[in-house]
Amino acid sequence: MAGYDYDLFVIGAGSGGVRAARMAAGMGVRVAIAEQHHLGGTCVNVGCIPKKLFVHASHFGADIEDARGYGWRAGTPAFDWQTLISNKDREIARLNGVYARLLRESGAEIIPSRAVVTGPHGIRIDGRDLSTERILVATGGWPSVPDLAGREHVITSNEAFHLDALPRRLLIVGGGYIAVEFAGIFQGLGVATTLVYRGGLFLRGFDQDLRSALAAHMRSAGVELRFNAEVAAVRPAGDAFEVELGTGARLVTDRVMYATGRAPNVEGLGLAEAGVALAWNGAVVVDDDYRSSVPSIYAIGDVTHRLNLTPVAIAEGMAFVRRTYGGQDACVDYDFIPTAVFSQPAIGTVGMTEEAAREHYGEIDIYRSEFTPLKHTLTGRAEKTLMKLVVVRDTDRVVGAHMLGPEAGEIIQGLAIAIRAGATKRMFDSTIGIHPTAAEEFVTMRTPV
Ligand code: FAD
Ligand code: NDP
Repeated sequence: MAGYDYDLFVIGAGSGGVRAARMAAGMGVRVAIAEQHHLGGTCVNVGCIPKKLFVHASHFGADIEDARGYGWRAGTPAFDWQTLISNKDREIARLNGVYARLLRESGAEIIPSRAVVTGPHGIRIDGRDLSTERILVATGGWPSVPDLAGREHVITSNEAFHLDALPRRLLIVGGGYIAVEFAGIFQGLGVATTLVYRGGLFLRGFDQDLRSALAAHMRSAGVELRFNAEVAAVRPAGDAFEVELGTGARLVTDRVMYATGRAPNVEGLGLAEAGVALAWNGAVVVDDDYRSSVPSIYAIGDVTHRLNLTPVAIAEGMAFVRRTYGGQDACVDYDFIPTAVFSQPAIGTVGMTEEAAREHYGEIDIYRSEFTPLKHTLTGRAEKTLMKLVVVRDTDRVVGAHMLGPEAGEIIQGLAIAIRAGATKRMFDSTIGIHPTAAEEFVTMRTPV
């Protein structure tokens, strides 16, 4: 619209914002995108990418041990944290550059500053007031640490990516994706790691069998799991920290990391003042068009606090652009979204857990297989892979697939297509396996348990 400086002003150049800005600009929309930190947002800078690099880093210790069973002999391995950090930082800087190039090539204007909403069509940035027909809020989330005595002494995943030195001991609080993934990472890098979780078993919402099996694997890898435990206070103790639990027990550690969820990034953004309705947790409330209660202001991704995953933020960004500028009735289908926890071993999952399916459908069949991966027959590592299929008895439809084991994310990604397409157990059974793989087990489970 001619009367505005821009047609679309995107706040936040993370997974969702970048995709929406590029796509809209490519369609001839006059787009500006503001970023207060680094292009690529959480996923690229302090999320998925550096996390997965750390997961790879932490596997090599075990891989070197495992290689002995195959006849390899090497000296005592040594790990250098600084090398990992500088190589990781170099790769992230390269990705920041790729994002800048892709945005520029699409025709979007990049404004490297913090933007604030001043009204339904108003943005303030670098002391300038700009106008725009539409605003897309894609500001993501930020680690949320509960109020506790000594809160100022704890770190979050943000800092874990930039520690000066690898601690000797680490205590992680939380039982979600980040706590479980980082416990595996640091233990694998040789840090004596303790995980403190308030509930009886971590990864609430995931399949119960996988949760229990992962806890057993992590314990045997040396991670100290303390369930049903709450932290009352954190105090400095010389160069270390003393963590007091609700029971009065005291643990001494070199670092305390909180991974107790992330909150929508809306503080000081001017949304409430502009009339945008926010949920109790600060999430921007949107309708099927990603439109907030102010018709010219939209939101996608983690700031709407629904499924906080990169591919979901990207899909929402694309759906927003197609609906708003492409005249298409494009919607994100939130059913059967696959996900992985990059724990050690990894979890991959799509669809309903056994517990949820039983509640929803009543009559279900469970197919379950637990086996030693071929690789470990020679390494001697006592690590079992676990796979489960959840099948509705009436229709034979597979409504859930769950795996704990190496490459679980890679395997479940493929299965997710079949399950979304409505595959029945009979179709799984008639599919020929690829031998010898772990994945073939998903098409050879014949008898329900
Ligand atoms: P973000 O990527 O968070 O981007 C928001 C951007 O907005 C940020 O760059 C921020 O600086 C900017 N911003 C905020 N306010 C302003 C403002 N006022 N002005 C200008 N800029 C602003 N997801 C997966 O799918 N797989 C994974 O393996 C995975 N691992 C993760 C590991 C960790 C440690 C974390 C923390 C997250 C992980 N996630 C993972 C989640 C994933 O990173 C998020 O779901 C995804 O980044 C959300 O994208 P977004 O566009 O909504 O927001
Ligand atoms: P999650 O929401 O996954 O888990 C938060 C954990 O903290 C839960 O175990 C929760 O317990 C616990 N918790 C919450 N509040 C408190 C409190 N006050 N005191 C003690 N414990 C508390 O959050 P994360 O921080 O692990 O990760 C944020 C999001 O980022 C994830 O939900 C996911 O969407 C995304 N992510 C995705 C990854 C992937 O795709 N592989 C990897 C990392 C992050 P309870 O269960 O009892 O409520």
